[in-house]
Amino acid sequence: MPQGPARSAREGAGAGKSGGRKQEKMNRECDRWRPDVALYVIGALEAEERAAMRWHLLSCPACRAEYEELLPVRDWLDQTRQHLASCRACRDDYRAFL
Ligand SMILES: [Zn+2]
Ligand SMILES: [Zn+2]
Repeated sequence: MPQGPARSAREGAGAGKSGGRKQEKMNRECDRWRPDVALYVIGALEAEERAAMRWHLLSCPACRAEYEELLPVRDWLDQTRQHLASCRACRDDYRAFL
């Protein structure tokens, strides 16, 4: 059974009580990953970070859900890019917007 690299290290450490808050949805490790999920989706991460993120997504259903939620954004971006490549009017708008 394959195991993510980060997993075994954490398991022994964090069994303390923490005020009865549910931690399944967003553990501390994910705080670190979450901002990069969007960058991963649009392909803006470096190769190394991308590989690390892929690992995390494999072992973390919460972040994977976030990733899947953002997939339409990538499709939209692709379509936008394609359109911008062929439409001068929108390209000018886009530059003005930047
Ligand atoms: Zn996560
Ligand atoms: Zn257009």
